[in-house]
Amino acid sequence: MAGPQQFIQPPFPTDLVEELHALVDRPIRVMVICGTQTRTLLKYSDEDILPEDLEIVTGPGCSICVMPAGHIDAFVKIGKEPDVITATCEDLLRVQGSQESLESIKQKGALVEVVDSPMEALDLARRYPNKIVVFTAVGFEGAAPDVAETILEAASEGIDNFCVIPSIRLLPPSLDSLMSDPELNIRGLLCSAHIQSITDSQAYADLARQHHLSCAVAGFGIAEILQGLISIVKQIISEKPIITNPFNNVAQTEETIRNSKIMSEVFFAVETDWRGLGSIEGSGFVIRDELSLYDAVKRFNVRFKKGEEEFQCQCAAVLSGRLTPDECPSFGISCTSRHPVGPCMAAQEGLCASYFRHIFGRL
Ligand code: SF4
Repeated sequence: MAGPQQFIQPPFPTDLVEELHALVDRPIRVMVICGTQTRTLLKYSDEDILPEDLEIVTGPGCSICVMPAGHIDAFVKIGKEPDVITATCEDLLRVQGSQESLESIKQKGALVEVVDSPMEALDLARRYPNKIVVFTAVGFEGAAPDVAETILEAASEGIDNFCVIPSIRLLPPSLDSLMSDPELNIRGLLCSAHIQSITDSQAYADLARQHHLSCAVAGFGIAEILQGLISIVKQIISEKPIITNPFNNVAQTEETIRNSKIMSEVFFAVETDWRGLGSIEGSGFVIRDELSLYDAVKRFNVRFKKGEEEFQCQCAAVLSGRLTPDECPSFGISCTSRHPVGPCMAAQEGLCASYFRHIFGRL
């Protein structure tokens, strides 16, 4: 008789590790953009399995971490308005703005609810017609289609007590800015699979061509990551930088086209601020004027201003690959997962939080 279904851990891909070691014949720096992929590498102790000459640099792969204090200040300001319910992801709660966080205003009585999706926030609006539900739309481009779809659904149903603070960011412009820094000397980019549902390979192909980068798109398991790194190293050695993407198929292309269409119905790209990277042209979204009822920034007449960030926090250097979290003087001392100082420790997906769990044995 069949027992309960059990998750079978795939065998560790020793053959891929050996292949990578045999290939790397020179110092190579590769940026791993996605926080989840970085976490997988940490879990398998990347320093033990990767060749010494293959240096992994982490990128701005956590959308909560790249949120500047000024954006948190806007969330807090709107969250304190009467009759507002802020609907937010859990990770954002503890991230500190200039003075307060969503968690601290909740403790003082503001209505702040954790939701898992924009549709869940819209459901809150249906349940509480006498409140205005404000959804904090954070994430990279992968998050944008769901938010766009929710706004369109609210508009089609005539729901007017729902709106969104658009704080979604596009990765390719930020990577373009990072790759222009000769000090970083990045030769390869490992991209995660989920960005492919939004940004077709062209944005990354352009990036690769412009900066002579080798790129690979990979999933989140250790075998997929190693395959991606092998592809990058092969491209570098053969001096034929391309972009390899095992997810590029007809179904994926159709999804990308559908997502692009729905996003352009609701948003357009503008310049926005990033923690650690400054202001980057074309890297943020705003809601189109026709849908301004659903734009909380316009509805509450709030502006994203420059905020004050904790001076001892090195998140800016961590997010731009210039420092590893354990090189921050506060890491594990004044900044811990229980008492985070910066967003990279406050967010579950943050790099400092991932290092903290890894180093203190909590992965
Ligand atoms: S360890 Fe804490 S203080 Fe240091 S960079 Fe990370 S979040 Fe900021």
